[in-house]
Amino acid sequence: MNHDQSHALFTRAQTLLPGGVNSPVRAFKSVGGEPFFVKRADGPYLYDVDDNRYIDYVGSWGPMIVGHNHTAVRQAVKQAIGNGLSFGAPCEAEVTMAETLTRLVPSCEMVRMVNSGTEATLSAIRLARGATGRSRIVKFEGCYHGHGDSFLVKAGSGMLTLGVPTSPGVPAGLSELTLTLPYNDVEAATALFAEQGEHIAGLIIEPVVGNANCIPPREGYLQHLRALCTQYGTVLIFDEVMTGFRVALGGAQAHYGVTPDLTTFGKIIGGGMPVGAYGGRRELMAQISPAGPIYQAGTLSGNPVAMAAGLAMLELVQEPGFHDRLSASAARLCAGLEAAAADAGVAVTTTQVGAMFGLFFTDQKVETYAQATACDITAFNTFFHAMLERGVFLAPSAYEAGFLSSAHDDSIIDATLEAAREAFKVVKG
Ligand code: PMP
Repeated sequence: MNHDQSHALFTRAQTLLPGGVNSPVRAFKSVGGEPFFVKRADGPYLYDVDDNRYIDYVGSWGPMIVGHNHTAVRQAVKQAIGNGLSFGAPCEAEVTMAETLTRLVPSCEMVRMVNSGTEATLSAIRLARGATGRSRIVKFEGCYHGHGDSFLVKAGSGMLTLGVPTSPGVPAGLSELTLTLPYNDVEAATALFAEQGEHIAGLIIEPVVGNANCIPPREGYLQHLRALCTQYGTVLIFDEVMTGFRVALGGAQAHYGVTPDLTTFGKIIGGGMPVGAYGGRRELMAQISPAGPIYQAGTLSGNPVAMAAGLAMLELVQEPGFHDRLSASAARLCAGLEAAAADAGVAVTTTQVGAMFGLFFTDQKVETYAQATACDITAFNTFFHAMLERGVFLAPSAYEAGFLSSAHDDSIIDATLEAAREAFKVVKG
């Protein structure tokens, strides 16, 4: 593959953008090499500026659940932009979006639109603190909730990829208020709440961890956290920025049958436009300004073009059987990857919940952050590049989940598995 144009752009970018990118994991730092620059995207494919084509398992890190550049979403955006780009005053699409979200995720009796997942989680934590009058929060090792100060403690995604335990620039006085727990460990959560439960405003969790590869919850784990939060008056926040509308139409809370107090969203609800949202019990949400005293605002929040894209996307994911088909494709991909690795003599296990999957270079079943980070990263990096050379783009880090879209049909999965059979041989050496 020729990467001359990408290389030229990356060279230009590096003197102008920190690390040459606008978001860290894009820089390929942990896998090595240089990123490709995208010219366009269509269906399951990305095309770079050198005209190479890749089957894409990143999907813009989640939003592209119906494939890239879907006609219905594009049409909705075209129609919306005909009426102007931003109003700074209410518009009907915001109300329709709120109706849609509250109908599809019943734990959200009211919602507030924001512009990113980061804004959603920051706002949810402020609400939890404001509503309880407490200051401590709990998060889980390897979970990523955006780049808000309180969350950059033992965080997943880029921080894990780049080996940064906590970020310089976060005042100790603030990070000390973030307590961390090992994910999927019932006893540790019970013990922490027994000690400090009355001081904990909110517990925020990715119900399926997607920022330390992909780790599903053990049976009963989320239920246990629900019970602890109820007992201690702590606000339970499900960060469904990744899982929302992906692992099931109603998100992870519907899939596992656990009702949080607040939920944060991003990605899919913007259809690829910059959007996030948070929502939850009416009594909590009614404390947000201007209904209540807890302040949160946004000039571009509820942007009409973003609402149009998101609404079109949410229409598509409601089609009967949509998630079952996606889940079946993901299961087929994971089974195929495990078989291909076994044939090549490479130790690999996979995890999968709906259209989210994980690929671990280990022979162990992975259920914890410690196990996820103990996998063979060198093997992953070799596999990543071997796949890329064969036209398959996986997330450029061993600590990110993979995402499928409805454009990943059987022929795309077959082509991926064909590439994987060769790539595992490269890993074996
Ligand atoms: N929460 C989760 C679970 C995420 O995966 C992400 C981003 N990948 C965020 C929050 C932050 O979202 P954003 O990048 O839109 O700020």
